Amino acid sequence: MKKTIFKKVSVPVFLLLFSFILFGCKTELQTPLELNEYAEPTSHEEMMDFVREADRRSRQVTLEIIGESVEGREIPVLKISGDTYGTNPDKIQVMMFAMLHGNEHSGKEGTLKLIREFADGDLEHYLQDIDLMVLPLMNPDGAEQTQRRNAQDIDLNRDNLVLESPENQALRRLFVKHMPEVTVDVHEYFPYGSAWEEFGYRKDFDMQIGLVTNPNISSQIIEYQNDTFLPFMQEYIEERGYSFHNYLVGGIPNESVTRHSTVDINDGRQSMGILNTFSMIYEGKNGRDRYADNIEERANCQFTSMVGLLEFVMANKHDIRQMVEEGRNKLIESQQGEKVAIQTEFVKGDEPLQMPLKSVSTGNDTIIVVEEYYPYVEAVLEVEKPAGYLVPAEDEDLVNLLQMHNVTITGDFVPEDYNIFRYTNITGPGNIRVEQLEDLPLGVGYFFVPINQLHSNMLVLALEPESQIGLVNYSAFEHLKEEDDYPILRVYKR
Ligand SMILES: [Zn+2]
Repeated sequence: MKKTIFKKVSVPVFLLLFSFILFGCKTELQTPLELNEYAEPTSHEEMMDFVREADRRSRQVTLEIIGESVEGREIPVLKISGDTYGTNPDKIQVMMFAMLHGNEHSGKEGTLKLIREFADGDLEHYLQDIDLMVLPLMNPDGAEQTQRRNAQDIDLNRDNLVLESPENQALRRLFVKHMPEVTVDVHEYFPYGSAWEEFGYRKDFDMQIGLVTNPNISSQIIEYQNDTFLPFMQEYIEERGYSFHNYLVGGIPNESVTRHSTVDINDGRQSMGILNTFSMIYEGKNGRDRYADNIEERANCQFTSMVGLLEFVMANKHDIRQMVEEGRNKLIESQQGEKVAIQTEFVKGDEPLQMPLKSVSTGNDTIIVVEEYYPYVEAVLEVEKPAGYLVPAEDEDLVNLLQMHNVTITGDFVPEDYNIFRYTNITGPGNIRVEQLEDLPLGVGYFFVPINQLHSNMLVLALEPESQIGLVNYSAFEHLKEEDDYPILRVYKR
């Protein structure tokens, strides 16, 4: 009797479950942008609901909160892996982070589409070789207002060295925890400024990709990015109907210098690149209104470029892993006496640039010949690496910063084994002198920061007082040059 009842109940229940599996679970997850039919960029709240749902649906997608913005909004990372993220040593780690700038919505929308495709299992094959971290929204406070800066009025893409914002502190913690081999900082450029309108032509590339440019980064990585990665991405992106260019920076052609990205190590791309990470910046084309204008195509182009990267990384996993490992080992094994370029300049190319632009009035494509094209970077001032630096223990800001970057600092320092030098006359560039000390200054405690570590080149660029891109250039570290004697000392092994 019991058995019969069970059977009568179980059939409809089974059918219900079956149809739920068919039509419930298998319903395609939709991004908030798709749900609102591309009328509005995804809000922070909608994004959080969406990433929670992606986490719930897929065993391969795991949501973690890495921190909070100034105004208390959660910053999510989606760890996407066929195993547990970061545990399989055969896999290469890729990290994509978007919207350090709050008025560049397509990066977020592109990553949400990418997360959706993984949650639905459509991109699963990449997970054979890749562990992926996706951060759709690094500046949620800025994004709520569609403004570039965060709630502290900090440009987060200039804050990746000094780490004054909680947003970048959280990003750095995640980065140094996993040390992904490949990182992409996703942005948009705005081609509709009034100067370009007046000029009559503007840039119209759907996607520009910027590579690492600081000359202290592994030349193997720089060359491989230029010679192998960029041509691949160009073909991949153009084949799918989008226009592409190597990232061009500069104002109106020939009125100012046209070049590629800065050499500074304070942006998302180069701050990771200086640790010999295979790092780049994506620059999609913003909308005229910086909100929803053309957002479907903008998001799809970002998404396509992200998938193109996964395709490239999967096909070249061994090469990339090897050059990143070699580059990082070289830093870890750094010796005193090796040269670091602390001042550089952009150098003119042999050939003018044939720059494709679009006529503002007719919409026609045209080529502008750019004579003032400076594609190369050359060293103007080099210093020889010391064995390490001594930083005053009482300078909490500096010590905290080094710790946030995961720099090795130690209390063990035997003065007898080293020649100690201080910098003097640091008031003006070009006047700085270095003089040897007989002994350490009395009454000052120091931490020793050895040069033979992953952050070797970053440390020289950050700590040398004559560095064009050093800490002395930031208001948070102005105190370093307030006194006659620069408080950081250089030491060489005897
Ligand atoms: Zn940007």
